Amino acid sequence: MTPLHWRSAAEIAAQVAAREVSAVEVTRAHLDRIAALDRRLGCYLLVDGDGALAQAAAVDRAIAAGDSPGLLAGVPVGLKDLLVTEGVATTAGSKILAGFIPPYDGTAVARLRQAGAVILGKLNMDEFAMGSSTENSAFGPVRNPWDESRVPGGSSGGSAAAVAAGLCAVALGTDTGGSIRQPAALSGVVGLKPTYGRVSRHGVIAFASSLDQVGPLARTVEDCALTLEAIAGHDPKDATSIDAPVPRYRDACTAAAADLSGLRVGVPEEFFAAGLDPEIERLVRAAIAKLADLGARVVPASLPNSEHSLATYYLVATAEASSNLARYDGVRYGLRVRDPGDDLNTMYQKSRAAGFGTEVKRRIMLGTYALRAGYYDAYYLRAQKVRALIKRDFDRAFATCDVIATPTSPIPAFRLGDRTEDPLAMYLADIYTISCNLAGLPGLSVPCGFTTSNTLPTGLQLLGPPLGESTVLRVAAAYQRATDWHTRHPPGAERSTP
Ligand code: GLN
Repeated sequence: MTPLHWRSAAEIAAQVAAREVSAVEVTRAHLDRIAALDRRLGCYLLVDGDGALAQAAAVDRAIAAGDSPGLLAGVPVGLKDLLVTEGVATTAGSKILAGFIPPYDGTAVARLRQAGAVILGKLNMDEFAMGSSTENSAFGPVRNPWDESRVPGGSSGGSAAAVAAGLCAVALGTDTGGSIRQPAALSGVVGLKPTYGRVSRHGVIAFASSLDQVGPLARTVEDCALTLEAIAGHDPKDATSIDAPVPRYRDACTAAAADLSGLRVGVPEEFFAAGLDPEIERLVRAAIAKLADLGARVVPASLPNSEHSLATYYLVATAEASSNLARYDGVRYGLRVRDPGDDLNTMYQKSRAAGFGTEVKRRIMLGTYALRAGYYDAYYLRAQKVRALIKRDFDRAFATCDVIATPTSPIPAFRLGDRTEDPLAMYLADIYTISCNLAGLPGLSVPCGFTTSNTLPTGLQLLGPPLGESTVLRVAAAYQRATDWHTRHPPGAERSTP
């Protein structure tokens, strides 16, 4: 029998609903595993053991009383610490939020609870979701379970590594420029960034508001579908949330949906240019050939403005971040740094200086510069125009294909410390993921094999048109059915099973 920590969310929910296993047992197994493994990996910033066991007991009681079990009954979930949780400390990976205990649950979190999910705790991340390796966390890095000398990707690195190591069945992450898909690829799990507005941003600490989106990471495509079904949908508390019905995403993952006959997969050669690791190119091209075996028609696609996406993103994202982070003025939240003789202004300045890490300060400076009077037209406005061109490329491409297939990351997981001194090298880790955010599209990364040299996982990225989540999930689920990458577990996590 599969140990509890390697069971999928779909399996756990069905077994808890049928009372074959209790939600409390599943929760205990995960808490024990976190206690045994996470000192090494560093995925969780906070484990809410008592809260989780209480939620699990409530799920078991409701089922015993004959209530209809939720979609995620008893499923152990971890949350990126950017999602605010009622009564549970939320840090955004930053010291500036020290002592912040939110008085409410964000919408996605509240919907998870309604669906019967059990929230185990809060997951490590790059400070304010700025980064691609989780090394920008104020609380220390996360290690990649496949090779503990390497990063898990970022900024949702705690989410990806926790799912990969069996420290939760599903995690929520956020994706502003790739922070769900890139760590999913580097940690060997599935990650889905929904269409902008598909999931409410209410109760998600803001980074770049026109790009941020919440989404699931899990070991199977079906689990991502189930989780999206639970958290998606209109929310009056988020003015950018889309008012469109939520389909049964899980129907996209059935055996009947796995025949891809007639489906057109577009391949943009711009995503296979210099900088792409040759081994990753080979694995991604093999995955695309597999889609053809499943009936899909592979067609060329063209996204000529892709080369501008990185520059565009780093203007838009830093500008919006500088505005969003202005609220952390050292007055309302966080550390108090006051030396004898300091007046209040000096204290607030010192508190900000000590509360933010280097990368966050760099972004606030860049963003403030780009928005300065006299520079706005040259930078932010120009970036918005290029963003419109990038969006138009996708509109044109989707006239002749149903999904676009690319690598998720140009490189496999890199060594801890390798890129921390060179911000531009770190930014390049997102070269393939950010255009999707600029265009507001759904994007998913599904494991598509391991590098032979050092057995590190990598991912195939699938992008769809706005609200095309079902199509993206269908292609990924069909691919997962035809391959067995998702049945492998990190050797270290396998050995240390408690
Ligand atoms: N790595 C990108 C950045 O540093 C994307 C981060 C994200 O998606 N949150 O901005």
